Amino acid sequence: MSNAVTTTDELRELYRELILDHARSPRHFGKPDDFSHSADGINPLCGDKLHLYLRVKNDGKIDDVAFEGSGCAISMASASLLTESVSGMATDDALAYSAAVTARLSGSAASCAHQDDFELGKLRALEGVREFPSRVKCATLAWHALRAALDAKSRSISTE
Ligand code: ZN
Repeated sequence: MSNAVTTTDELRELYRELILDHARSPRHFGKPDDFSHSADGINPLCGDKLHLYLRVKNDGKIDDVAFEGSGCAISMASASLLTESVSGMATDDALAYSAAVTARLSGSAASCAHQDDFELGKLRALEGVREFPSRVKCATLAWHALRAALDAKSRSISTE
């Protein structure tokens, strides 16, 4: 029986398609007219650069998320998926979610306090990077930038 192997291969193919789709046509790409928070993310090892924009409303909810930048398919797809994932979230929830995603993609999910109520959803497509340590920084760049944007003390992050 090779069903399990086939399923894994099929999933990998689907995930690859999802990543390439988001990398080719990133969602919410471009600088919005109106935003309240922003941060740069730079991954010198790979050459990924992105700028993340958030619009947080008075009730503390993220009303809009957008990004611009350039980099490898994984960094662009991850940023694109981020914009879909955290839109509508309260900033506290987005910070917790970002920490959980970063832990999961880095392979340190065991230490994650939000494991139980944590839905990776489409971000599962990025989980494969755990096998490639140098790509983890590509996949987590946008998530570090999200935290930098919501943290008034730092508005720029570099993975190095
Ligand atoms: Zn990269």
